[in-house]
Formats: sequence, structure tokens, C-alpha cells
Amino acid sequence: MAEELVETEKNFCISCERDISIIDDSVVFNCPNCGTKISRCGKCRGRGVNYTCKVCGFVGP
Ligand SMILES: [Zn+2]
Ligand SMILES: [Zn+2]
Repeated sequence: MAEELVETEKNFCISCERDISIIDDSVVFNCPNCGTKISRCGKCRGRGVNYTCKVCGFVGP
């Protein structure tokens, strides 16, 4: 029986849409406002790029 890859295991940066698994210092956290999972890569964190929650529109650093 072949192992199926779980689609949700892949996380892409909410700002630049890169695969965060290949970027150091990446984080996955829940939106402070609505709890939706948000992924950010280390590059966007390092540059201080704001993120916008796709569900509720919350903008945070
Ligand atoms: Zn990014
Ligand atoms: Zn949200």
C-alpha cells in the first residue's frame, strides 16, 4: 500500500508563497484574530514583511 502524501503537511509562506519547509526560521502559527493557520518563511520574517490573514483580513507583523 503506497503512502499518500498529506496535502496539508505542505506549508507555503502567506507573503511570498514559497515552501517554508526549505527556508530556515520559518514559523507556522494561528491567526490571533480568527485562529486560521498562517505560515511565514524566515525570509519574510527577517525582512519584517506584514502578513494578511486570508480569512479575516487581520494584518500583523
Ligand atoms: Zn515568505
Ligand atoms: Zn484571521
